[in-house]
Amino acid sequence: MAETAPQNWPAGHRAALVLSFDVDGEYGVINRYGADDWYWRSQARYDLDAGIWRVLNVLADLDVQATFCWVGRCVEDRPDAIRAVADADHESATHGWDHRYYRDMSAEEQAEDLRRTASAIEDQTGEAAIGHKSPSWRFSDDTVAVLQQLGFRWNMDLAIGDLPGFNQPDSALDPVVQLPPSRLWDDYSYFVDQIAPPDNAYNMWRDDIDVLRAEGKLMCMTFHPWVIGRPAPSRALVHFLDYVVSLGDVWIARADHVAQWWRETHSPDKAQ
Ligand SMILES: [Zn+2]
Repeated sequence: MAETAPQNWPAGHRAALVLSFDVDGEYGVINRYGADDWYWRSQARYDLDAGIWRVLNVLADLDVQATFCWVGRCVEDRPDAIRAVADADHESATHGWDHRYYRDMSAEEQAEDLRRTASAIEDQTGEAAIGHKSPSWRFSDDTVAVLQQLGFRWNMDLAIGDLPGFNQPDSALDPVVQLPPSRLWDDYSYFVDQIAPPDNAYNMWRDDIDVLRAEGKLMCMTFHPWVIGRPAPSRALVHFLDYVVSLGDVWIARADHVAQWWRETHSPDKAQ
């Protein structure tokens, strides 16, 4: 199938949208700046104290489901937060035990980190995590093979295009569905790397979904509750979701549901 041919998403939808929220707590900035950088640590504490609750209200108001990618230590710190996510029928996936880069870990260390994080999630939600996003998208050559061995079904690390794809380093094991992220679909780019008005993000994302809807493709967004959950940035998310819902034919779905649908309807032999 040609890259630009429309895809038939379920129920006549013209495009698909995945909303993923990386719950880093303090651990993302600790890994990046050090445990003694209280400027960033205090900023990021907003994640579980305030941001995630505003995000959950936005999603509930619009009746859409999303995927939350958890740092394992955040699950340990605030089990009430992940239970609220599960109670609202959102998916929980892994995002590293303490946000250390997988790039710097051996395959064995990555496997242990994934098992520990997935176990913490399952203890709270009762469901096995089947998806993974590497901390800061810093994966290694081993990451997908480890995910295959552990039975993970999807990964959101590789910006491979605008459609899902299959990654199958071990041909004897089930492939992992790759859901492509983008730094342009990351709230950090608008509200951390720079401070821009919410309309900047909204206008960019609206144009993105217009193009992808015309082409029948997939938009995979990455947010952080301490960033998009701040008051004004939350309006970028609300305005964008209002627009997407008004289009009437975009499938807003959890990452596991998109990966499952892609697996059921596309053969790895035909996909790139
Ligand atoms: Zn992160």
